[in-house]
Amino acid sequence: MSVIQDNLKAVNERIEEALARAGRAPRTTRLLAVTKTFTPEVIQEAYRAGQRSFGENRVQELAAKAPALPPDCEWHLIGHLQRNKVRQALGFATWIHSVDSPALLERIQRLADEVGAAPKLLLEVNVSGEESKIGFAPDAVEAALAEMPAGPAECVGLMTMAPLGADEGTLHSIFGGLRQLRDRLQDRLGMPLPELSMGMSSDLEAAIAEGATIVRVGTAIFGRR
Ligand SMILES: *Cc1c(COP(=O)(O)O)cnc(C)c1O
Repeated sequence: MSVIQDNLKAVNERIEEALARAGRAPRTTRLLAVTKTFTPEVIQEAYRAGQRSFGENRVQELAAKAPALPPDCEWHLIGHLQRNKVRQALGFATWIHSVDSPALLERIQRLADEVGAAPKLLLEVNVSGEESKIGFAPDAVEAALAEMPAGPAECVGLMTMAPLGADEGTLHSIFGGLRQLRDRLQDRLGMPLPELSMGMSSDLEAAIAEGATIVRVGTAIFGRR
């Protein structure tokens, strides 16, 4: 087996162990393999090991690589999306995890309608409120969802990133905070938001303990960038 295939197996085992420890059912967290900076040849190794969901954080890189991989790959855009890149993103990504403003939401709906795409969307939330300004403030998410412009794209949940090097307690409060926010929004809006995209190579256990349904893992599969 190749190193990448070994790594993939190890990450899948970490996921299943974390689910078991949390008392959650097996295979209720999906692995998104984050391929940024890695070549299609390297990604192909993961494909051969059975991985089908891949995440890129830049549209240009996504557009360059996706056509080089088999058509049954599912591409997720996980990085900040500029409004002038939405059209191109919709050509490749069927999931967008990084919807971070009402204006972007509006543009995605309009262009998805125009090009006949129906992407699944996650609103990125800045739970910790730390230095990074990316993402909705937690108290702005309800209005964004309540006033979601009509269109073919469907909002299926929330996404967050923990600050680098956060300690265990901080990780649990951020990931738990996203879950609680999701639970509140579902109650108040009567809108199903089943997906929680949270957890990366170094913190996926904490995220799964707090209810992650998608973990986004790069380094632990492909190595250092
Ligand atoms: C790069 C990236 C990841 C993966 O991080 P690793 O630490 O390499 O697992 C996850 N989410 C986003 C948004 C990223 O940009």
